[in-house]
Order: sequence, then C-alpha cells, then structure tokens
Amino acid sequence: MQYVSTRGQAPALGFEETMLTGLARDGGLYVPDTLPQMGADEIAALAGVPYEDAAHRVIRPFVGGAFSDDALAAMIARAYAGFGHAARAPLKQLAPNHFLLELFHGPTLAFKDFAMQLIGQFFEAALERRGQRICIVGATSGDTGSAAIEAFRGLDNVDVFILYPHGRVSEVQRRQMTTPEEANVHALAIEGHFDDAQARVKDMFNDHAFRDEVGLAAVNSINWARVLAQVVYYFTAASSLGAPHRALSFTVPTGNFGDVFAGYVAKRMGLPIDRLVVATNQNDILHRCLTTGRYEVAGVVPSISPSMDIQVSSNFERALFDVYDRDGAAVAQLMDELKAQGGFALSQGALDRLRESFASGSASEEETRAAIARTREATGELLCPHTAVGVHVAEAARDPHIPMVTLATAHPAKFPDAVEEATGIRPGLPPRMANLYERPERVTRVPNDLAAIEDLIRERLRR
Ligand SMILES: *Cc1c(COP(=O)(O)O)cnc(C)c1O
Repeated sequence: MQYVSTRGQAPALGFEETMLTGLARDGGLYVPDTLPQMGADEIAALAGVPYEDAAHRVIRPFVGGAFSDDALAAMIARAYAGFGHAARAPLKQLAPNHFLLELFHGPTLAFKDFAMQLIGQFFEAALERRGQRICIVGATSGDTGSAAIEAFRGLDNVDVFILYPHGRVSEVQRRQMTTPEEANVHALAIEGHFDDAQARVKDMFNDHAFRDEVGLAAVNSINWARVLAQVVYYFTAASSLGAPHRALSFTVPTGNFGDVFAGYVAKRMGLPIDRLVVATNQNDILHRCLTTGRYEVAGVVPSISPSMDIQVSSNFERALFDVYDRDGAAVAQLMDELKAQGGFALSQGALDRLRESFASGSASEEETRAAIARTREATGELLCPHTAVGVHVAEAARDPHIPMVTLATAHPAKFPDAVEEATGIRPGLPPRMANLYERPERVTRVPNDLAAIEDLIRERLRR
C-alpha cells in the first residue's frame, strides 16, 4: 500500500517510510492512497475475538510488506500485554443505548497508549532492521507525551524529546513525563500553549537541514501509524454492539482530530457508523467550523480538559483532503490561508460532505462538571473531564434508536482535581502506578524559540 501527502507535492511512500517520516516534506500529512474494505462477514467475525486478533485483521492490509504476519501478531501482542484489562477496550453501559468505550487501561491511563505502545514496537523493529537511529520530537497537551515516553523509554535506537506547555498539564501527566530515569528521555517545558509547542515541532520538521542532521521523527497524531492503531477499537466496539447488522454512532472528545479521524477511516472501510460526533470543550474551532463553514483560529482558553485545549487540529487536514476530492493543491491553499490569515472558509460542497459523516457539539466548563456529577449520580461511574465533554455532547446529539458509544479517553485519576471538584470524590490511581507522586522529577524549561530548542536537542542527543 502506498501513502500520499495531503498537499500533493511529497513523494508517495510505503508504510514503513510513512511511519518513520511523520510529517511529509511538503508540510502535508500522509494518508493511504486507497482504503482497504472490510466486508460484512469480516466485520461480523470480529465479534467476541480477542482485541489483539481484531487488531491484526484491521491493521494487516495497511502495512503491506513491512512486517510478516507473524511479526505483526507478535508486536501487537507485546503492545497490549501491559494493559490493565483483559478486554483492552471494554464497553460499559451508561444508559439505555448509550455506552462508554473505556480506552484508559494502558500504562499512562489515556487512549493514546493504544497507538503509542504499538508504534514503539513498530519503530524498534524497523530501526533495528535498518541499523538506523532516530530522534523523536513531539508536542503534547499532556497525554501524547507521557504515552510516547512510556513507549520509547530505554530503546537503544531512539532519543525522545517531548515539549509540553509549562504549567498547563495535570500533575499526573507531568510526573508521567518527568519521572522516567532513562537517559534517552527528555521532558521540555515550553513557555506557551500547546499550539506553540506544536508549531515549534512543525518548524523543526520544516527545517530540513536540522531534520536530517538529527534524524527527526514524529509520533504526534500526525503520524499515520497512530491513526491506524486507533481504527481498531471502532471495529471491536461496533462488532460487540451488533455491527454490521446494526449501525451505531460514536461521540469522540476531540482536540487534534486524530481519534475521530480514525473513526472516519473505519467508516470508510465499511463499518456502519451513522454519525461521528466531534465533542469539543470551550476551545471549539471544530464545532464552529462544522456549524458555520469557517475554520477560524481564536485564542486558546485553558480548561479542565487540557488535552483538548487546541485550536489548530492537525488531523482535520486529512478529512479536508477527502472532502476536497483528494486535491492536494486545494488543501495546500487552505493551509496557506490558515497560516497567513488565521482562518479559511470551506466550500459548500466540502462542508456538506463533512456533515455527511460528522456532527458536533461543545461543552462549557460548567456543563463538563455537571456531566461528571450527573453521571456519578446516575451510574456510579467517575468520568475524566475529557470523557465528560463527550458524554455531555452525546446526550444532546444522540438519536435514542441508534446506539451511541462515547469514547472514554482518560482515567479519572489522571485529572483528580476536576473530578473531585465536581463530585467530592478524589479518584485514586490504579495500584500499578501508586508511587508516581514519590518519584523524583527531571525537566528542562525552554523558551518558545526554535533556535534555542534545536540547540538543546543537538546538545543532548546520544549519537
Ligand atoms: C489526546 C486526547 C484527546 C483528544 O484526542 P485527539 O486525537 O487529539 O482529538 C481527548 N482526550 C484525552 C484524554 C486525550 O489525551
């Protein structure tokens, strides 16, 4: 299978190259040139099989010749072995026809472990075979960074630098990034917001000399392999609830549009998804865009769901590429407008096509807290604030006749202050990470300045 850039100017690549490259050299994101289809029988056959087997069946067609069947199966098995739940992504019922898909049983208690643990396996295998080293640089609003560090700590061929916005991640998120002792792990606290961190990472990738010098690689949600890993749980959840014989909808707490785009890929592969509901917090650029047709950057307002405090949703470009009939030049023009003017207007055709798959809603801080409290009262479940944004939006958006699955993107203990404020109950960490608060931290403060960050990376890199 070949992968092409959303801006149409970079060379097409195979799976392994796409994974190792991250952002395309024309500034675009890689997407498969065609999507494999899952037939009704294949979808039905996923019901009840172990998560790892389902993952193998969904992922296999995308990797081409990069890994043998056996190697892929072994990597998937290792990726999910450390999860704290036998089902990996269990479903829990909240109300009649409303379900939670719990994606927080991985080592860092957020859904990003699903992708990152697998990517760690993929990278290790590919780099060993090639005798190559890479330097992973990522921007995080909290959960990506901890998941990346957890997946790559101690690997011989990888150095990891994670930029997070200073003072804007939860204490658990911060400690998950700053407490690993391995010499290949570097947590960098940048002065600014997540969008600043993300912009500096993009700048590094566009600095081709630096990119080649240090062997830069990305594991942000722009990395296709991450999106791919997330496609799997849409299939397992849907087949458990009666797909392909019954359609269902998903509500996805959204920031960078990676998770919900994975749902879109599942739909395009043949999964009967009625609607993908994009749930945003008060940083609602996507909800405004789907409502008005104008994608317009506003300032980021910090919220109690910090992993969604994002204005520029990188993966949205992948959806745009599709609804602009895979016209890279048209996407490149929109992205130029975004950079120059802080926004762009969608064509009516593109907006209509987006609305065929996506609905949207947003939750204020008050509505988020109320959803946490209400769900606790009605079901006994504690929701993390991101999941609560999803539940609030799902309750408003759902058709009672169609099953709704809301993605529970993080464990409540990752955001204990917000949960306690809403319910009076302080959620505890699972026993396997209970000593997190006692481990010493290691972090470097950096300015929001490309040259300074590049110098620091050069200096710290193990060559
Ligand atoms: C990353 C994250 C999100 C947003 O996911 P995207 O793929 O960036 O849209 C939502 N909730 C939690 C807990 C996250 O860590």
